[in-house]
Amino acid sequence: MKNFKLAHLGNFSHSLDAIVYHAKPNATDEIAEIFELARKNDLTIAPRGAGRSYNDAALNGGGIVLDLSLLTRILAWDAEKGILRAEPGLTLASLWQHILPDGWWPPVVSGTMKTTLGGCLGMNIHGKNNFKMGTIGENIVEFTALLPNGEEVTCSPNQNDDLFYAMISGMGMLGVFTSVTMQMKRVYSGLVSVKEWNVPNLSAQLDALLTGAPENDYIVGWLDGTARGKSLGRGQMHAANYLAKDDDPEPQKTMQVDFQTLPDTFFGVIPKSKLHYLMSLGLNNLGVWGVNTAKYLVGRDKNYRQPHAAFHFLLDYVPDWELSYGRQGLIQYQSFLPRETALGAWTEMIQLSQKRGLPTYLGVTKRHRPDKFLFSHALDGFSLAFDFKITNGNRAKLATMVQEFDQIALNAGGRFYFAKNSETASETARHFLGDEALKKFHKLKERCDPEGLLRSGLYRRLFSK
Ligand SMILES: Cc1cc2nc3c(=O)[nH]c(=O)nc-3n(C[C@H](O)[C@H](O)[C@H](O)COP(=O)(O)OP(=O)(O)OC[C@H]3O[C@@H](n4cnc5c(N)ncnc54)[C@H](O)[C@@H]3O)c2cc1C
Repeated sequence: MKNFKLAHLGNFSHSLDAIVYHAKPNATDEIAEIFELARKNDLTIAPRGAGRSYNDAALNGGGIVLDLSLLTRILAWDAEKGILRAEPGLTLASLWQHILPDGWWPPVVSGTMKTTLGGCLGMNIHGKNNFKMGTIGENIVEFTALLPNGEEVTCSPNQNDDLFYAMISGMGMLGVFTSVTMQMKRVYSGLVSVKEWNVPNLSAQLDALLTGAPENDYIVGWLDGTARGKSLGRGQMHAANYLAKDDDPEPQKTMQVDFQTLPDTFFGVIPKSKLHYLMSLGLNNLGVWGVNTAKYLVGRDKNYRQPHAAFHFLLDYVPDWELSYGRQGLIQYQSFLPRETALGAWTEMIQLSQKRGLPTYLGVTKRHRPDKFLFSHALDGFSLAFDFKITNGNRAKLATMVQEFDQIALNAGGRFYFAKNSETASETARHFLGDEALKKFHKLKERCDPEGLLRSGLYRRLFSK
């Protein structure tokens, strides 16, 4: 295998890194070679897509990281039915760019288009439409995978369904996806119609998600983590809807890739590639308070049309925005809470973060529904994601605080997302996943990977006894 070398790899949020054997196959046939190499050298393997998880999910210190990002071929595209089959390293960016000119859009996307299909299945990602379209797994027709025991499997909701529901969400710990077949969503325009409005506090924000979810295709909230008292949890909602047939006078134009791409400069002068330097100047408690207050105060009810890519992937338009958090990076902490307990539990978390002088610099809320996947993070309720800046001085305090959040969320019947939180301890994971799901997972692990070749940093953290 040509692409195999020692490398220093990090996670997306620059908070963790590891020295690993970095294996980058050029073809799916080479994956079996890497299993063999690991076996002979007593090494373990963590699959990796684009490495966009905020934690140790795609890291494996001292072991092999099996990087699938060169496996990007589209194997079949049916533009009549909207069904695409591709290798696991295909990014969501390449995917939407291939299908949009034919009038289709991926049914579920993450907030960045840089993720790969394999990584999206490994974590079973959700979008701003989780309440309507479910997780990505619910839109998968079929996948093929190579298991460490040498078996090549094809899985769908009707074939090998136990593996289908466990490998999707299984954090790459049962086998390696080698192809993914997905149903896309028909669209009649390259634009979505967006509504924007302010909400004065957390209770109003959750109400807006609850009432807005059924009547819109997408809904998401921005939360000002610095606001206190009666304004705690205030923010801004964005809801979006697909355009109906004939609503867009120029669909052939708006569905072209060029139309979706934003300019290289902000206000015509600041190059996008330099924007993170500017942002870093304001990323402190006072700067964020000032920006958030201004954003809230100038917020007005607005209606406009926006390209799909601009609505979904706003963060991608600031290249390397994560660098604005500085050398120590950031922690993203996302909890999922039932409708009944969300308000109380998140009020407690936000108050605690303010009391400790560690307010979140970005808060994002979404509406969710439960699903059948083994390690599902979703439930009938909401999620709130917090971004916290790490510094040399606050790292330990932050880690303690997010573990306290874990307890608040657990007591409120909450769930967690393994693509994000980097501090969740094994007892917490065991508590939230429950004995039955864990028993099922370990039984499948025994069958698919009897020698325990697949192990990531995340797996060790969550499942080490
Ligand atoms: C800016 C930003 C916004 C985000 N927004 C969202 C969002 O809105 N919703 C959401 O759900 N998530 C979101 N995420 C998280 C992201 O979608 C997930 O972490 C996703 O898994 C990353 O995909 P990746 O290709 O980078 O996978 P990686 O991070 O490289 O890997 C993720 C997991 O998948 C496994 N894996 C990768 N490839 C394979 C394969 N071929 N076979 C088996 N296992 C594999 C890995 O072992 C790992 O456990 C966001 C992340 C960022 C950075």
